[in-house]
Amino acid sequence: MEDCIFCKIINKEIPADIIYEDENLLAFLDIRPVNKGHALLIPKKHAADMTSSDDETLSQLIVGVKKLAQAIMTATGAAGFNLGVNTGAASGQVVFHTHFHIIPRFANDGLKSWPHSDSEPKTRADVAAEIKKFL
Ligand code: 5GP
Ligand code: ZN
Repeated sequence: MEDCIFCKIINKEIPADIIYEDENLLAFLDIRPVNKGHALLIPKKHAADMTSSDDETLSQLIVGVKKLAQAIMTATGAAGFNLGVNTGAASGQVVFHTHFHIIPRFANDGLKSWPHSDSEPKTRADVAAEIKKFL
């Protein structure tokens, strides 16, 4: 798609540190990594975010995550990884081409998870009931 930075990377119009490419997927290092080895896995088929990608593409992506994460962990010596899929501007999504962040994690790397809060059983039950209406 025109004006999409990730489509430009797919089309080799702008450079990237590509670590994997096949018919459907491309993976490259994030230009502003959270940790060493932070990679982005994207489908070659443009969609604004994962809710707009078709199921076949999403299946390819998650299988790709497994393969890439294992390689990244081995290469970097990471002990784990976070999979991040920002969806929508409110979540922090900046590039509107479906992408999965694979962020290697190291023991005591100082990164904090998002903050949790306490909740009431009644509130949880109400929220669960509301969500179930749409499934
Ligand atoms: P988002 O916030 O949309 O989930 O994340 C987009 C990510 O893409 C960011 O982590 C950002 O550093 C990365 N990024 C943005 N532009 C480029 C680029 O031109 N090249 C590479 N390799 N990464 C990019
Ligand atoms: Zn695109």
